[in-house]
Amino acid sequence: MKNNKTLIVGAGPSGMICALSLVKSGKRVVIIDKRTTRGSISKATGVSLGTIKALVELGLPDSITESMTPMSRFEFYEDNELISDLKIPLLNTEPPAYLYPQLKLEKLIENELNMKGVFVQYDTFIQKIDNQKSFAHAEIISNENLSKEKFKRVIGADGAHSKVRELASFKFNGKTYPEIWSVAEIKTNSWNESVQAKLFLSSEGIGLFLSNPESGIVQGILNAPNIESKLKEKFPDSIFNYSREFKVSLKRVNNTKKDSVWLIGDAAHVQSPVGGQGLNLAIADAVMLSKCLDRNEAYAKKHLERQAKRTLFFTDFDYRMLATKNVVIRFMRNKYWSLASKYPKISKWFFKSISGINHYRSESV
Ligand SMILES: Cc1cc2nc3c(=O)[nH]c(=O)nc-3n(C[C@H](O)[C@H](O)[C@H](O)COP(=O)(O)OP(=O)(O)OC[C@H]3O[C@@H](n4cnc5c(N)ncnc54)[C@H](O)[C@@H]3O)c2cc1C
Repeated sequence: MKNNKTLIVGAGPSGMICALSLVKSGKRVVIIDKRTTRGSISKATGVSLGTIKALVELGLPDSITESMTPMSRFEFYEDNELISDLKIPLLNTEPPAYLYPQLKLEKLIENELNMKGVFVQYDTFIQKIDNQKSFAHAEIISNENLSKEKFKRVIGADGAHSKVRELASFKFNGKTYPEIWSVAEIKTNSWNESVQAKLFLSSEGIGLFLSNPESGIVQGILNAPNIESKLKEKFPDSIFNYSREFKVSLKRVNNTKKDSVWLIGDAAHVQSPVGGQGLNLAIADAVMLSKCLDRNEAYAKKHLERQAKRTLFFTDFDYRMLATKNVVIRFMRNKYWSLASKYPKISKWFFKSISGINHYRSESV
């Protein structure tokens, strides 16, 4: 029997957006996730303008930005000296990005998906793929029961440690940054809410990035272990929601498609959280791929690979600028951001990149 369903593995932002977009264009999808329920931790806090526009096009209301915090002011310190208090320039009339917890964004997307009659099958994972030119057989385990099904294609949206990537033998090339990073989220009343983000750099190459995704909450990311002590120092009233340590890689697949299997989002590329691009690129991948399937897949493949290459170059550059100990580069970096606080227009290119609008530019396929 002919089966024209698409299997999406992973119900993070990329998987759910892909499902939503495919269903909107009349395609049949199955979406599975190995978790038993949606998690409780938000990773990303920065949602780009490009992502907002894509969500609205997919049917989420314009008003979603009402509960988000527009990025309008950013402070940058080196060795605790204020280098730049930057008024973030608007792009036309809109902010380049908003702050909003990833978890809340995922819940909005899942709700929209449910309203279209699609429900994530939790506690379900893939254990084998027989990948052929025009279809794929998948072995799926759900609540400990094994089933085998034929799909038109499999889309791996299952994150940085993708099982689909492993089962279909995609090569994942790149490097892992040597240092251990740490992230934490705290409750505090000591954040000045007229500023949305702060970056504290040291001449030793350590950077603490703080953002305020919602009132009374601060997320900190440090390219070193033990963020807890740094946050306690800055916010004596901190109550920790969570903290953890992690490693960061800069890796991507050269080919996002192999026969009937595609990879999108973190399954296809991982990068440092500096620059806030992972979630936004994951959503852009999903939108592009779902629009091109059965129409112009060669274009989608080329676009996804080019976009990932560019974005990883950008976030690696950002990270090098953040972590450099070189006196000359630090001087030039600080001079640039100090000038940008007096003349915000000179940082427009940077915020245009952050805004992700270029991800959607060549989308008329
Ligand atoms: C500390 C931190 C801060 C960040 N900040 C930002 C930011 O400000 N802006 C930004 O754009 N990005 C940010 N990111 C990156 C962003 O969180 C990720 O890029 C984004 O979540 C990728 O989405 P995804 O859907 O591709 O993958 P994921 O969100 O990882 O989702 C993958 C899903 O697949 C499921 N899964 C995994 N394996 C299987 C399997 N075998 N079978 C079935 N399901 C499976 C998982 O349970 C999960 O639900 C940050 C990341 C970190 C760690």
